[in-house]
Amino acid sequence: MRWLDRLRTLYVLRRCPISHQVWEQVSDKCTAFNGLSAVERAHLRELTTLFLHRKTLVGAHELAVSEPMAVTIAAQACLLVLKLGLDDFDGWNDVIIYPGAFKVARNSVDEVGLVSLQSRSLSGESWLRGPVILSWDDVARDLASPHAGHSVVVHEFAHKLDMCNGRANGMPPLHSDMVRADWTQAFADAFEHLQQSIAHHHRSAINDYAATDPAEFFAVVSELFFTAPQILRAEYPPVYDQLVLFYRQDPYARTRR
Ligand SMILES: [Zn+2]
Repeated sequence: MRWLDRLRTLYVLRRCPISHQVWEQVSDKCTAFNGLSAVERAHLRELTTLFLHRKTLVGAHELAVSEPMAVTIAAQACLLVLKLGLDDFDGWNDVIIYPGAFKVARNSVDEVGLVSLQSRSLSGESWLRGPVILSWDDVARDLASPHAGHSVVVHEFAHKLDMCNGRANGMPPLHSDMVRADWTQAFADAFEHLQQSIAHHHRSAINDYAATDPAEFFAVVSELFFTAPQILRAEYPPVYDQLVLFYRQDPYARTRR
């Protein structure tokens, strides 16, 4: 049935293209797209079109999601799977977009086992086999004032890739040509180094939030990988190299094109 899938894909690309104006407007704003070749850009646009056809992007709290907003989110999400394919985002359907940071209330357990309800304000969240939830304010802020290593879209969609083999734990399914021990060594060493740096109040180019747990570490270094690859490559070269193998892209090489 592959020919049928191919036919469907061609139909979507022909019938529901992203307008040239919107595509140019969005891709100009996303600095992470700098250095992509013309062929890669064209492929990213196709993936973005298909993403918007496969997924449902809905606004919460009466937020109207315009075409440029939808394309802004979809295109950044598709950058992660530019060389992997959209199927890596299978198994869930919705992207829910709040106007701004949204509040969640969760039970949390302290060191002595006491459970309390904690309310937190979030810019994004990914649910296992469920939606990706984003704050539009934060998505827009990442683009308006690109802060090295910050992209809520990359962060949440990296969690989605991590969840391809169950709960997010910083260990997504690796490709057959990757060595699990190399991944584990690179990530465990870097994670421990970051925790030590924070404990000793040493400055690090990596957001402290990465030290929360291995799942957050993977999402935060993915943000750096795509938006400030030179920082990650300088700070944790083995992690950078593993991400090159995982995402099958080399954003640092792109910055030097
Ligand atoms: Zn996270």
